[in-house]
Amino acid sequence: MKKVLVTGGAGFVGSFLCELLIDKGYEVIAIDNFYTGNKSNLSQLIDHPNFKLINHDVVEPIKLEVEWIFNLACPASPVHYQANPIKTTKTSVLGIINMLELAKKMNARLLQASTSEVYGDPLEHPQHENYFGNVNPIGLRSCYDEGKRIAESLMYDYNRQKKVDIKIVRIFNTYGPRMNLNDGRVVSNFIVAALKGNPIAIHGDGLQTRCFCYVTELVDALHKMMKTKHFIGPVNAGNPKEFTIKELAEKIIDMTNSRSKIINSPARNDDPLRRKPEITLAKEKLGWEPFIKLEDGLLKTINYFENLLKCS
Ligand code: NAD
Ligand code: UDP
Repeated sequence: MKKVLVTGGAGFVGSFLCELLIDKGYEVIAIDNFYTGNKSNLSQLIDHPNFKLINHDVVEPIKLEVEWIFNLACPASPVHYQANPIKTTKTSVLGIINMLELAKKMNARLLQASTSEVYGDPLEHPQHENYFGNVNPIGLRSCYDEGKRIAESLMYDYNRQKKVDIKIVRIFNTYGPRMNLNDGRVVSNFIVAALKGNPIAIHGDGLQTRCFCYVTELVDALHKMMKTKHFIGPVNAGNPKEFTIKELAEKIIDMTNSRSKIINSPARNDDPLRRKPEITLAKEKLGWEPFIKLEDGLLKTINYFENLLKCS
C-alpha cells in the first residue's frame, strides 16, 4: 500500500483528492494549516484507518515517510491569496522547497499543483504548455502567479541537479461542492448570490472568458499524472469548453430560478481576458479528458450550496 502525502488536503481540491486516493487503497496523510481549508471537508475520511490529518504549515520543514507527495497547499482564490500576498509567496516558494527536500530525502515522487495563472493574461489562445506566458511581476496577482512560476522552476532545478522525481500539472479553473461560502471565486460567488436573491456582481463587462472543470475529473487527472512513467510535464488539466463570465451568470440565474439581477462592478486588476486549455498532451500522455458538462457540474454544486445555506 503506497504512502501518500497531500499538502492542502483539507482544501476544496485536496479533500476530493484524498477521497479518491483512499478509494484507490492508498494510505493518505493530509497536511494543512486551515487557512482556507476545513476539517469538515474531510469528515467522511477522519475515522478511516488509512487516513491521517496533520495541522502543519508548509513554510516549515516536515519529515514524513511517504512515497508520493501531492503539493496543493496554497490559497487559490484571488480574494484569499491577495489578503496576505507575502504569505502566499512564502507558501509557494518555501512550501515547494520543503516538499522537494522531503522528496529528495525519501526518494519520493512529487507532483506540483501548478496553475493556468503561469500564463498570466495570455497573448496566445488557447494556451499550450509551451507558451511562456504574460505575467505582470509586480501586480496584485503576482504573489500567486510568480510563486507558482518559481515553484515550477525549482521543480525542474531539483530534477536536473538532484534527480528528484517530479510531475507538474497546470490546473485551470475548477469548481464543485466543498468550495467555501466565502471562497470568492466566480462559480461559488454567483451561486451563493443567486440562491440568496442578491445582486450578481460581474467584474468589468463580463466578456472575459474562463473554462470550468468539475472537481472529480480534475483530481482524476492529478492521480493519472502521478502514475505516469517518464513524463514530467508540465501538462494542462482543464475543461476546454469556454464561457464568458456573463454567460456563466445567466446560466446560474436560470438554473436556480433566481430573481437576482446582474450588476457590473469595476474590473479586477490584471484580470486575464481569455483563458482556455489546450489539452492534447493530457489526452496523449494521461489518456485523460473531461466529459462532465458545465450544467451537470453546476447542478451538483448548486445542490451543495442550497444545503449549506439551509444549515447556516
Ligand atoms: P483551497 O484554497 O480550497 O485549498 C488550499 C488548501 O491549502 C487549503 O486547505 C488551505 O488551508 C491550505 N493551505 C494554504 N496555505 C497553506 C500553508 N502555508 N500550509 C499548509 N496548508 C496551506 O484551493 P483549491 O482550489 O483547493 O486549490 C488547491 C491547489 O490547486 C492550490 O495549490 C491551487 O493553486 C491549485 N489550483 C487550483 C485551481 C482551482 O481552480 N481550484 C486552479 C489552479 C490551481
Ligand atoms: N468574477 C466576477 N465576479 C465575482 C468573482 C469573479 O465577475 O464575483 C470574474 C473575475 O473577474 C474573473 C473570473 O470571474 O474574470 C474568474 O474569477 P475567479 O476569481 O473565479 O478566478 P481567476 O480565474 O480570476 O483566478
